[in-house]
Amino acid sequence: MDRGAFLEKAREGAELIKMHIELGHTIRIISHRDADGITAGAVLARAVAREGGTFQLSIVKQLSEELVQELASEKHRIYVFSDLGSGSISLIEKHLEGATVVVADHHPPEKDEFSTDSHVLVNPVPFGANSVRDLSGSGVAYFVAKEMNERNMDMAYVAIVGAVGDMQEIDGTFHGLNNDILEDGKKLDILEVRKELRLFGRESRPLYQMLAYATHPEIPEVTGDERKAIEWLRARGFDPDMRYWQLREEEKRKLHDALVIHLIKHGAPKEAIDRLIGDVVISPLYPEGDPRHEAREFATLLNATGRLNAGTLGVAICLGDEDAYKRARKMLEDYKREQIEARKFLIQNWSMADEGEHAYVFYAGKNIRDTLVGIAANIAINAGLADPEKPVVVIADSDEDENLVKGSARTTEKALAKGYHLGEALREVAEKLGGEGGGHAIAAGIRFPKDRLDEFIRLFNEALGKQVEGKGSED
Ligand code: C5P
Ligand code: C5P
Ligand code: C5P
Ligand code: C5P
Ligand code: ZN
Repeated sequence: MDRGAFLEKAREGAELIKMHIELGHTIRIISHRDADGITAGAVLARAVAREGGTFQLSIVKQLSEELVQELASEKHRIYVFSDLGSGSISLIEKHLEGATVVVADHHPPEKDEFSTDSHVLVNPVPFGANSVRDLSGSGVAYFVAKEMNERNMDMAYVAIVGAVGDMQEIDGTFHGLNNDILEDGKKLDILEVRKELRLFGRESRPLYQMLAYATHPEIPEVTGDERKAIEWLRARGFDPDMRYWQLREEEKRKLHDALVIHLIKHGAPKEAIDRLIGDVVISPLYPEGDPRHEAREFATLLNATGRLNAGTLGVAICLGDEDAYKRARKMLEDYKREQIEARKFLIQNWSMADEGEHAYVFYAGKNIRDTLVGIAANIAINAGLADPEKPVVVIADSDEDENLVKGSARTTEKALAKGYHLGEALREVAEKLGGEGGGHAIAAGIRFPKDRLDEFIRLFNEALGKQVEGKGSED
């Protein structure tokens, strides 16, 4: 990718923000409600405060036309959007014409640039980056912040937590500009990258729970069964109640070997084995055993706040607020429990999924919370319910509007190789259904009227079908 051109955009965004700080204007920050968006918001908030500016920050679920209109009515001089906005360029141009706008985002943009000089799109995708691997929303915010002041490099760990929240290292290693952030963090001794077991729970879970709740990859015959996990560990000489971080290096290696052998024995796919051990980021800024000490646990903590509508609490945690952290820990337990329940529900009811030519569509009604459908779609793939070469959409009733449903589509690199782009397909289908949809090739979302579910199934399969045909004729 063209790093120089991207960094030039980051510099343009940074200059606009600094100019408005000097003019005494409040910087209006709007960020997305997941770990990536929360960390992006925190990075920008810290950068503004550091220059002596004031900010007003909101964490939102998505950027609808109503929301853009509402923001416009606040009559700020400058708006900064992070981890969202790229799909709403025309909406922003329409309603925020008179204001300065900086969009710091990594979603595939509606178009590569804004048409006025007072609006800047800072996004690595038009410069050749892969939106789900090379940089996340928090990473884009980080580069803008670093252009504002080099001292903002001290947000490198928070920025990487956002990348991990978006699963940018899902294959076991970091890519692209994420590596630049890691290098900055290493220089300042605020983070460390290790090759370790990548299952969730390094800091806070006993080993038996780390294995019993492992979902990518799933551990055959162990995932979903605490008793078996305990037996499995004891049989190999491990104390099931230890935490991974407490193991000596040789014990970690022994555990890795035992897991790899177990996966091979059970015929697990090569990709599953490859991603078991890989890059794990930890930070000496926090004590061992604290979820903030390891990036994935930190990200999950932030997701828990976001999905329970307490995203600004998450921002406070990123800015070092200990009380906010204590309050959020309780939310984490509920969030994890709901994920386990969603997994059970999916496994028990998967036969209800509609399997079309190009996609599975699973309607969960109110049985899965609408903020967990993305996780559920990934579970359907990782738990072997769905053929990994066929995209999965899980749909639930909207928490906010009983006439709407929220769907999340997820798939694998293998399926993408056929030519699918879930974000484009959902954007197209949403237009036909009177909803809103979009996102990355591998992960995308949609909201649409509940009474059009059958039509959705047909249109989504058709849209994906066209993408594959298109690809076939190009080759
Ligand atoms: O896919 P999505 O945005 O929902 O996931 C982002 C975050 O949600 C990740 O940090 C991860 O901790 C959490 N997650 C999860 N289970 C998944 C996928 C993501 O808990 N299957
Ligand atoms: O909104 P946003 O870009 O921040 O979220 C990206 C989403 O893509 C997350 O939900 C993340 O878990 C998902 N993802 C995925 N598979 C990947 C990469 C990202 O499901 N390989
Ligand atoms: O897989 P990873 O270690 O990133 O997962 C973090 C948490 O997200 C897990 O504890 C699990 O509960 C949840 N998860 C999930 N489904 C996945 C991946 C993760 O429920 N496919
Ligand atoms: O909502 P969900 O987690 O399924 O979204 C997956 C990805 O699609 C995220 O990156 C999200 O920001 C993006 N998305 C989007 N436009 C929408 C809905 C989701 O860009 N209308
Ligand atoms: Zn993101």
